Amino acid sequence: MKKGNLAPNLKLSLPSPDETSLAKFLTESGTFMDGDLLVNRDGVRIVSQSQSDTPPLIHPSDNQLMLADFDAIKVVGKGNGGIVRLVQHKWTGQFFALKMIQMNVDEPARRQITKELKINQSSQCSNVVVCYQSFYDNGAISIILEYMDGGSLADFLKTVRSVPEHYLAAICKQVLKGLWCLHHEKHIIHRDLKPSNLLINHRGEVKITDFGVSAILASTSGLANTQIGTYNYMSPERIIGGSYGYKSDIWSLGLVLLECATGQFPYSPPQPGEGWVSVYELMETVVDQPPPQAPSDKFSPQFCSFIEACVQKDPKDRASANELMRDPLLQHCIESLIARVVSVYFK
Ligand code: ATP
Ligand code: MG
Repeated sequence: MKKGNLAPNLKLSLPSPDETSLAKFLTESGTFMDGDLLVNRDGVRIVSQSQSDTPPLIHPSDNQLMLADFDAIKVVGKGNGGIVRLVQHKWTGQFFALKMIQMNVDEPARRQITKELKINQSSQCSNVVVCYQSFYDNGAISIILEYMDGGSLADFLKTVRSVPEHYLAAICKQVLKGLWCLHHEKHIIHRDLKPSNLLINHRGEVKITDFGVSAILASTSGLANTQIGTYNYMSPERIIGGSYGYKSDIWSLGLVLLECATGQFPYSPPQPGEGWVSVYELMETVVDQPPPQAPSDKFSPQFCSFIEACVQKDPKDRASANELMRDPLLQHCIESLIARVVSVYFK
């Protein structure tokens, strides 16, 4: 049988949980693992944990996960209001990322977050990090996410300083596939696209994470709203408080690509080397000054015009994800390049 396949007609009728001999092996969600055999209320699956590319045993729609079913392995990152841990599901051995945000949010924000997380759970995009389940307990939001073992593009940039444009084109193609799915299939705006929200795995897949949720938290809790960084990748129309749409994500994408290409955030502060004094100074610059450009002496005309198409200040002049997918820059990029880079840089 092919690894990870559901045994077609094999159904087990499990004894009731009060039969103590079996109960001790079962999670509250009713999953039991022994060697290559996985048993739950849906029946039996033969799985092989030795294969790193085994398809996920747990599906986001299973709705069965419990926090108590996970062992914490290590902290993999910290953000503004949360901590991300690598965790292992006790019964399947499968690894996940557990993001915990300790914060009291009001009821409307909680409803909005739950809605966004449910959208992610309902169907999957290949270039969007899978959200398996979310919990709200005692002022903390915990989200079980697909674990991306290569870390974020921000982590990667710390190692390499800048990314050559043909690698960037391959990264961008995947990000655009994810954005296309968010915009056209799920009808949501990411609102917080930045290098730390683009994650990479050992297969060279680049996936978008944290759509909606972080932005809702930042805007409803007052958290980090005045910190430099919150507005770095925000489009001019959002900064001025106007209506905004999917294309505000394209602005952010343009800045991210430019930052990766040059190794520097595209807006430099008025006093070189001193950093931005306040978030308002940066916001004024984004709104009042012409958009940044890729230096034409360092990058190809295709790359420069791709960036130009992304960072048009008027969203009507800005390209959509759909249009950018057809851009000549992405037509000849070699997506497998990323896997090669990952194998060199990530252990
Ligand atoms: P901010 O809080 O400002 O949005 P952030 O995006 O860095 O910043 P988090 O989303 O909490 O904050 O993520 C922190 C770090 O954890 C990321 O930079 C990344 O290295 C790591 N990380 C997040 N999600 C995952 C995941 N699903 N798999 C592996 N690592 C992850
Ligand atoms: Mg994040």
